[in-house]
Amino acid sequence: MKPPLFRYQAPKTLKEAVIALASDPDAMVLAGGQSLLPALNFRLASPSLLVDIQHIDELKGISIAHGQIIVKAMTRHRELELDERVRQANPLIAETMAHVAHIPIRNRGTVVGSLCHADGAAEVPLVLILLGGSVVVEGPSGRREIEADKFFRFHLSTARRRDEIAVEARFPVLPAGSGWAFDELTRRHGDYAIAGVGAVVRLDAGGHANDIRLAACGVASRPIRLLEAEKLLSGTALGEAELKAAGKAAADLVSAPDDMHATNAYRRRVVAALVRRMVAKAAARARTRQ
Ligand SMILES: Cc1cc2nc3c(=O)[nH]c(=O)nc-3n(C[C@H](O)[C@H](O)[C@H](O)COP(=O)(O)OP(=O)(O)OC[C@H]3O[C@@H](n4cnc5c(N)ncnc54)[C@H](O)[C@@H]3O)c2cc1C
Repeated sequence: MKPPLFRYQAPKTLKEAVIALASDPDAMVLAGGQSLLPALNFRLASPSLLVDIQHIDELKGISIAHGQIIVKAMTRHRELELDERVRQANPLIAETMAHVAHIPIRNRGTVVGSLCHADGAAEVPLVLILLGGSVVVEGPSGRREIEADKFFRFHLSTARRRDEIAVEARFPVLPAGSGWAFDELTRRHGDYAIAGVGAVVRLDAGGHANDIRLAACGVASRPIRLLEAEKLLSGTALGEAELKAAGKAAADLVSAPDDMHATNAYRRRVVAALVRRMVAKAAARARTRQ
């Protein structure tokens, strides 16, 4: 199908883009277009105006400062995946980005666009939740920073107001001595996750988990922290019994209904297995970094 008719503006500055977006209640931001253009073609979205932000130089680039990896709005998935400074500062990010769609889509799609699109099965929102990052938005009433756990509201819904542009995402660097892991189950390589789990683990000198964070995608209407599983593992030596109990606790947080890809019961089993494997893998990496 062809997209519905829309007007198009391609501002050169953020200020112009904010004015354009605020000028029409049915306007939408166009970034990499990898989710929005299919939505237009399927007539799932019909904005009267598209504000294309890809020519705005101040929205391009990646920097690292004060323990944060700052990813500006027009940074493509592939740029973040391949950035050597990011790989050093937080290897979880590159490992996870490799699971986002296929390379041609990662060449066009943006990291911040994925956060704004907020698909409950997407990998980048999981990373932001897992690391405790944030999204900075700017609109007619100014700039504000929204913490990851407040940003994602529901499938395809965020705390960004309609007249705000997300200008950057902030991902914390990996805490010193931490191990990391991410994996997902998909029907085909490059598909959205049936379920995915990420883990960050830090161990004390005795090998007990003194800092552990877990998150999942594909299992609820938004990416979620697996807080019950974290509690069960915290302070333990991450033995078989604890991993099994944590897997079960994580499975109990799966709320996705049966769909054409998987039943709820299947997703529960996948999440339980991924939690056990990701925690073990992250802990093994943490041991080599102590
Ligand atoms: C075949 C295929 C497979 C895919 N597989 C996966 C996958 O496995 N995992 C995955 O995570 N993604 C997947 N995607 C989606 C891809 O990652 C998109 O690039 C991403 O979701 C959106 O980024 P974008 O820059 O293309 O955003 P766009 O498509 O331009 O925009 C998406 C939405 O976000 C809004 N938006 C974008 N940027 C901003 C901003 N700066 N401020 C405010 N609003 C903004 C737009 O208005 C729109 O509502 C797939 C896409 C395709 C086509």
